[in-house]
Amino acid sequence: MKIFECDNCGYPLYFENQSCEKCSHLSGYSDLHHGMKTFTSVNGNLKSDRDGEIFKYCRNSVSGVCNWIIPFKEEREYCLACSLNRIIPDLSIQENTEKWQKLENAKHRLVYQLQRLELPISPRSSDVNKGLCFDFVAKQGNPKVMTGHNNGIITIVLSEADTVHREYVKKQLSEPYRTLIGHFRHEVGHYYWSLLVSGNQTTLSEFREVFGDERTDYNQSLNNHYQFGATSNWQESYISQYATSHPWEDWAETWAHYLHIMDMTETSYFFGVEVNPNVKDQSFKGKVNFDPYEIMDFNKIYKEWAPISLVINSLNRSMGVPDMYPFVVSQNVIQKMNFIHNLLTQLKRE
Ligand SMILES: [Zn+2]
Ligand SMILES: [Zn+2]
Ligand SMILES: [Zn+2]
Repeated sequence: MKIFECDNCGYPLYFENQSCEKCSHLSGYSDLHHGMKTFTSVNGNLKSDRDGEIFKYCRNSVSGVCNWIIPFKEEREYCLACSLNRIIPDLSIQENTEKWQKLENAKHRLVYQLQRLELPISPRSSDVNKGLCFDFVAKQGNPKVMTGHNNGIITIVLSEADTVHREYVKKQLSEPYRTLIGHFRHEVGHYYWSLLVSGNQTTLSEFREVFGDERTDYNQSLNNHYQFGATSNWQESYISQYATSHPWEDWAETWAHYLHIMDMTETSYFFGVEVNPNVKDQSFKGKVNFDPYEIMDFNKIYKEWAPISLVINSLNRSMGVPDMYPFVVSQNVIQKMNFIHNLLTQLKRE
């Protein structure tokens, strides 16, 4: 994620800020400009500090779950990120507002990134066959509901926004990492597989060479995975144990990690992060002096990112918290990420 600044006073702004913490000017994110703007309020509307243009907040700003802005002259009430919602939590239940805020924070970061990757994003409300939408559903009353993707509909179980519950599930499943943004990135990976890979014979056969044949029985594969687990050498070819269950899950897991790495690299670039540790081995040096979304070669991105991940893990250990990136990325996994990066780069050029 980029670092932004207040147009009025120059103070840094987070992506989620509703106002500048220093001068209190209102702030919001414009996905048309990939940037934050700050405003003075004029008759209840937002007048840009930068150029005087008039904007309005997305309607969901009244619930405190969105700070995206829309040009005042446009009729639409919701920003692109919020227009992807199909079912939102029941807000008559008090604790659901906070859960919804957490879900929206993660989802807005996801949409920011999909836009930076120049991926097509069409809300299901305007494209009933191929569009994307999100259902945020509670287990109460729907005991069978599960987090997952089905033909453009991404369901996230509300309890995943409850930190205590999520940590409990993480331990139950012996997962090293479980976050909301991780869920969003994984599930949207399934969506883009069906959109970008499944319908193109050339891409599909290339996919099968890298990830395996997805025609293998999916339910049977998952059952086998839950019964027998992964083989002992799974780290040589997969990013996670779950990725070994089926080529679709391998794709979605690898896709999620590709997005993790792209986001961390972008953040490192905008903060000018440089790693120069006091050890003989030169391979632990890293400096991101490029915006990863403008780079053709994923290996270049990975090479600079890897030392940074070591630093962040070390900083986490300094604070006594688990490693931020508790994964081993093997050469085979880098190859899979290359496949994804090349596919997206190719699509940008079309
Ligand atoms: Zn300011
Ligand atoms: Zn919105
Ligand atoms: Zn999945």
